Amino acid sequence: MYTSTLRALIDELGRLPGVGPKSAQRMAFHLLRVPTEDALRLSDAIVAVKERTSFCTRCFNVAEGGGLCPICADDRRDPSLTCVVEDPRDIVAVERTGQFKGRYHVLQGALNPLEGVGPEQLRVKELLQRVEEEGTKEVILCTNPNLEGEATAMYLAKLLAPLNVRVTRLASGLPVGGDLEYADELTLGRALEGRRELDR
Ligand SMILES: [Zn+2]
Repeated sequence: MYTSTLRALIDELGRLPGVGPKSAQRMAFHLLRVPTEDALRLSDAIVAVKERTSFCTRCFNVAEGGGLCPICADDRRDPSLTCVVEDPRDIVAVERTGQFKGRYHVLQGALNPLEGVGPEQLRVKELLQRVEEEGTKEVILCTNPNLEGEATAMYLAKLLAPLNVRVTRLASGLPVGGDLEYADELTLGRALEGRRELDR
C-alpha cells in the first residue's frame, strides 16, 4: 500500500509511546506534506538529543555535555536537601510546585522484581554515597505513590536508617496507584509540605 520509505516512517512513529497505527499514519503524511526544512527540524532535534544528552554525573537527571544538570550546576540550590525521584520527568513535576529548593537524585526506575529490576539496576549505591559525602541533612523519598514506588521508598528508608540523615516521605493525598508526573502542582506541593518522617 505504501512505499517502503513511508512504511518505515509509519512503523517508527508507531513505536512511540501512546501512538497508535492511525496516528502514526497521520503524522507520516503530515511530515510528507510540510516543507522539507520543517520536517528536518524534527529529525535534527532527535539527532541532537541523542548525541548531546547525557546523565548528570551527580544526580542522574538529564544533562548536556557530560557534566552537571542545570539544577546541580545552580549553587543557589540547597545541597543539604535531596529529593529522590524515579525519573527525570518527576523532577519537572516537583519543580512545578515551586516549593523545593534542594537537589535531586534520580533512581532511573523503581524496584520491580517481576520485571527484573532490583537495587543493582537503580542508582541506589550512588545515593548512599552522596548522602555520606555531601553532608545531606534530609532525604525526601518522592517515588510514585504506587506499589513499586512504595516498595522502593521502604527499601531506601531501611538502607538510610543507619546514616545520620532525616528520611521523609510525601504525605498521603496523592492519588494512590498514580504517577507523580500526572499529579497537579497544588496536590504535589501539599504532599511535599506535609511530608512525614519515616519510622526507623
Ligand atoms: Zn544533577
